[in-house]
Amino acid sequence: MTYTTFYSETKDGTFIALNSRDNEFMISSRISQRMYLDYMLSHLYISMYLCVIIAIVIGINGYRQFKRPRSLQEELRRAVEENEFLPYLQPIVNHQGRICGAEILMRWHHPNQGFIMPDLFIPLAEDTGLIHIMTTQILNRVKSDLLQNHQYLPDGFHLAINISPSQCNDLLFYKDCLSFMSAFPEGKVKLVAELTEREFIQDTGNAALLFEKLHHLGVQIALDDFGTGHSSLAYINQFHIDIIKIDKSFTHLIGSVDMPSHIVDNVVDLANRLNIDVVAEGVENATQEAYLKQRDIQFFQGYLYDKPLPPAVFIEKMQQQSDMLVRLQADPSLNG
Ligand code: C2E
Ligand code: CA
Ligand code: CA
Repeated sequence: MTYTTFYSETKDGTFIALNSRDNEFMISSRISQRMYLDYMLSHLYISMYLCVIIAIVIGINGYRQFKRPRSLQEELRRAVEENEFLPYLQPIVNHQGRICGAEILMRWHHPNQGFIMPDLFIPLAEDTGLIHIMTTQILNRVKSDLLQNHQYLPDGFHLAINISPSQCNDLLFYKDCLSFMSAFPEGKVKLVAELTEREFIQDTGNAALLFEKLHHLGVQIALDDFGTGHSSLAYINQFHIDIIKIDKSFTHLIGSVDMPSHIVDNVVDLANRLNIDVVAEGVENATQEAYLKQRDIQFFQGYLYDKPLPPAVFIEKMQQQSDMLVRLQADPSLNG
């Protein structure tokens, strides 16, 4: 039989008709949605179950991929995009015990893991080159925090930032310093780039150029962790070093029986001869402070004064100090 078919949708279901071409008859039927469903359940249920199982497997797999701990490198990149690196500020005090500066120390505020200390992520940030943008980000944050409160900072406020050896080979850090310095009134902030002596700087000529440009801008260079590396004197000679930071491992030996006192004495002696300022790191008790003061060290940093603080807390301290100095100026008899 040859026939033509036609379908039409009605509110009771689909109307199907087979229309014979040769004879005068037509076979028709109406298939309701319920009949479709019954047919699928009775004939295609295996395929349907399979589809559901495949969908569940794909879903679980997708969820696992999403939840899988990412590599630290991927996490670091994500954190840079999300601006999760924060500056903490540790006070640096002078001979009179007044805060005259701060060191910027980076913290990673991870959404699940909380605060992560720099020793755990700085080495990877250096290897991946992300340290450059991370330094830019934290300097920008400190700039906006301090700018709104610069009236509480003493003139020539010493603000130290750590830089990695790879940052000595291009001029991005110089641009960051330029943008930082030009935001403040002249003479308000003295930026200091702290360079650790532990890792070797390969001077391809760029490092010397960078330091020259930084000096020209008024940025000073500090040699961090002094005495722990192997090239202290070579560095002092090669680059124009303005400040030496005595490593905390030496400060911690003060007061102990086997303290090699000549090490601290020699560092101070060397610094005096070369007209270099000295900051003593890791000062934790009054014995260490007294010993270092006797050696004419000018600047101190350590838990005895304060640990690294969130910028808001640091600014509060600066405000209290500034208010106290105003009161002292008005009434010098309050001193002592
Ligand atoms: P660092 O530059 O030698 O910083 C001093 C470290 O000593 C800091 O550790 C500080 O919290 C800690 N410290 C301060 N006072 C005391 C004390 O009285 N006793 C003891 N035991 N420790 C004290 P932190 O913040 O964990 O930083 C570790 C290192 O990570 C830094 O050593 C620095 O090398 C590196 N780092 C921190 N922030 C940055 C950054 O922004 N860039 C780069 N490139 N490195 C950074
Ligand atoms: Ca440092
Ligand atoms: Ca140090």
